[in-house]
Amino acid sequence: MERFSLSDIKVKNRIDIFHYIYNNPCSSKQKIANQLGITLPTVTQHLTALMEDQLVEKSGQLNSTCGRKATSYSIISTARIAIGIELTEHTVHIAAVDLYVVKKAKVKINLKFERTEAYFETLRDHVLAFIEKYHFKNEQILGIGIGIQGLVSQGGRRITYATVIDVEGLSIDIFEKYFSWPCRFIHNTDCAANSELWVNPEINDAIYLSLCMHLGGALILNRQIKEGITGKSGIFEHMTLIPGGRPCYCGRTGCAECYCSASTFLDDQMDLDDFFQQKAQGNSDYQKRWEEFLYYLAILINNLHMVLESTVILGGDIIPYLTDKDLKMLQDKVVEFSAFGDAPTYILPGKCRNDAVAIGAALPFIQEFLQNFIEES
Ligand SMILES: [Zn+2]
Repeated sequence: MERFSLSDIKVKNRIDIFHYIYNNPCSSKQKIANQLGITLPTVTQHLTALMEDQLVEKSGQLNSTCGRKATSYSIISTARIAIGIELTEHTVHIAAVDLYVVKKAKVKINLKFERTEAYFETLRDHVLAFIEKYHFKNEQILGIGIGIQGLVSQGGRRITYATVIDVEGLSIDIFEKYFSWPCRFIHNTDCAANSELWVNPEINDAIYLSLCMHLGGALILNRQIKEGITGKSGIFEHMTLIPGGRPCYCGRTGCAECYCSASTFLDDQMDLDDFFQQKAQGNSDYQKRWEEFLYYLAILINNLHMVLESTVILGGDIIPYLTDKDLKMLQDKVVEFSAFGDAPTYILPGKCRNDAVAIGAALPFIQEFLQNFIEES
């Protein structure tokens, strides 16, 4: 039989109480005690300690049937925050999320990526200015995640493969020498897929497609992103869609990236707002490009659904522009390609619409804090 020491039980009670309040904000002492099977004096003792540590606060008075109102307790959601950075060729998005992964602040900076000391110093200045502007304290910050278009080594210490941005071989040391918090790289599509998993508890197995300037993919099994032996599972963007087709940045031709990314229908220097505005105003060339994009996307979705019969989640910057009519058009095309003619109700737009990469880059720090909550008073 497993034996627990008094100190183990004390730690377990503290963790259980913290988790219970996290999942059940505005709980009374009595309710915590009843639900967890812990005595009232023990709950009181832990609540006092958690309040001293500024992790829990009194959050109001609850109505009671026996006259005296009970005090309610909640987590201080900003007791800890994590910072996520989406680093792209021309921009940097910085976001801060609290313990409930609610975005507390964000900023977009136009900064062209260069693999130079000057670039990283400028980036550091922007991050520190962001932290100062929103009055985040050093001890509040759990870490900084950097979402980047590239494959990442286990533990996020190194970029193992990248072509769109010149970051291949880059070590996280370049960030950690500037910041006193833990830093890690995370593949940008994994960030977006993780954000989606966080907001969508119904996902179990899924194929996730990130439709942005570039295409990205993630294979989700049992609510986990399947990385594969060397991190290449779910890299749907480099599956051959059209043999001998358009040239891809990976050096090959005909990859899904060349047909199912925004870069295939946008003119140079054009953003998605411009494109969809002009399309809505009747630009027939743009309409044709858009329909072509949906056509190829339908082929990709049908192929992927043959590999894994599961939900296909469409995420990324394009999704806020996808109308119900577009979705219907896409679904109809998928049916045309399907050998079985199944109803394509498995194709769903993602729920996480904005800043999914920056939020997803911050998310692991919050998840780890919640999972490893063992700060003993
Ligand atoms: Zn490719």
